[in-house]
Amino acid sequence: MFEKILIANRGEIALRIQRGCRELGIRTVAVHSEADADAKYVKLADESVCIGPAASAQSYLNVPAIISAAELTDAEAIHPGYGFLSENADFAERVESSGFVFIGPRPDTIRLMGDKVSAKDAMKAAGVPCVPGSDGALPEDPDQIRAIAERVGYPVIIKAAGGGGGRGMRVVHTEGALLNAVAMTRAEAQTAFGNPVVYMERYLQKPRHIEIQILADQHGHAVHLGERDCSMQRRHQKIMEEAPAPGLSRQLRDEIGNRCAEACRQIGYRGAGTFEFLYEDGEFFFIEMNTRIQVEHPVTELITGVDLIQEQIRIAAGLPLAFTQDEIQFRGHAIECRINAEHPYTFVPSPGRITAYHAPGGPGIRVDSHVYQNYVVPPYYDSMIGKLLAHGSTREQAIARMRTALMEMVVEGVNTNIPLHQDLLADQNVLAGGTSIHYLEHKLTKPGGN
Ligand code: ADP
Repeated sequence: MFEKILIANRGEIALRIQRGCRELGIRTVAVHSEADADAKYVKLADESVCIGPAASAQSYLNVPAIISAAELTDAEAIHPGYGFLSENADFAERVESSGFVFIGPRPDTIRLMGDKVSAKDAMKAAGVPCVPGSDGALPEDPDQIRAIAERVGYPVIIKAAGGGGGRGMRVVHTEGALLNAVAMTRAEAQTAFGNPVVYMERYLQKPRHIEIQILADQHGHAVHLGERDCSMQRRHQKIMEEAPAPGLSRQLRDEIGNRCAEACRQIGYRGAGTFEFLYEDGEFFFIEMNTRIQVEHPVTELITGVDLIQEQIRIAAGLPLAFTQDEIQFRGHAIECRINAEHPYTFVPSPGRITAYHAPGGPGIRVDSHVYQNYVVPPYYDSMIGKLLAHGSTREQAIARMRTALMEMVVEGVNTNIPLHQDLLADQNVLAGGTSIHYLEHKLTKPGGN
């Protein structure tokens, strides 16, 4: 096992990884920007290194500074968390060529999954069901593009192979709008991602977002840890997640989960990962794979009792998985509310000083957050200030606990989206479960209605 790990991230996930390391008896190095010098996880780490000014490009994305920090502190491995450099194959390669262990998949796997066209090809070959579409990149020839759209069936969605964060996508309803949409998405993709390749998928009208968590070791073993329903989204970004997915049968979960685990074995996947699917009318359609730990990973931890961060570390250290698929038990129901410093209905970020802070507690409640009274939420990064989780033996109990926790939670001085979460947990359709990815947008544009 490693003696010292450098955590190349900030905020709640930096603290979460640090806690995982501490329980394993591993020393930690925090790297931070000038803006985060006073952060709790920086003070709590065994060592810390300032890697640059506030702007991410000069600090959390500054590869030479992070590698130097690892050299300086004699760290053996680097945990990238999520966001920032976590899915950057060049970074993973640099980490390994500098003699450190990258806590994540092999660089070539990250590269394969980072290109959505090659990811879909690989998944299809491994027997994972994908959204019907163009079978690879769209050609240049207008007649061919029209023919593909005809075959796929309107509406279609044009997506950038290099896209991410919900950007680089365009829905097309009629043939008249097709070629222009392809040209515009290509141009945008070139500007935003430096890659003009686009592909086409059938546009699903009312899908849910359901994803499968997997773990794979370096000895050919892979398991799935069930699903998470992340359909509650604003601007293609998740805000509330739960597991199990309401209404999904155990048989369907096992079937899709086993396929994902098998795909991992086939491509020689290493570490934790997530297969993201759109789910409609009882069918799963793969859209992309995330080759890192995800924000919503604690939902799975609560229902399985598996510490995903520690498993990532064990796998990176070369240890075999300590459990088989049959040994993974799913217990009860868990919900996560992402607490963002933003206006609850306009989503405008609200950085600044937190003048009062009280975290909720009680049975089944977990708070993953780095903030405290008088903490200043910096304007430079993501607006998430923490995650509130509730676990119960049933979905109803998890919801009841979450409502109580939201009512107890006090965050003053900045706006938060706590009122939105309270609204959602009072909404009959949300309580019934199984709403689509468009539900929140529809709800917000039709006040009072659903
Ligand atoms: P990103 O990497 O930018 O998050 P994804 O491929 O994961 O891109 O898609 C993001 C979101 O866009 C999905 O969660 C879904 O809301 C929507 N989306 C993507 N593909 C489709 C599709 N074929 N049909 C309907 N919605 C889609």
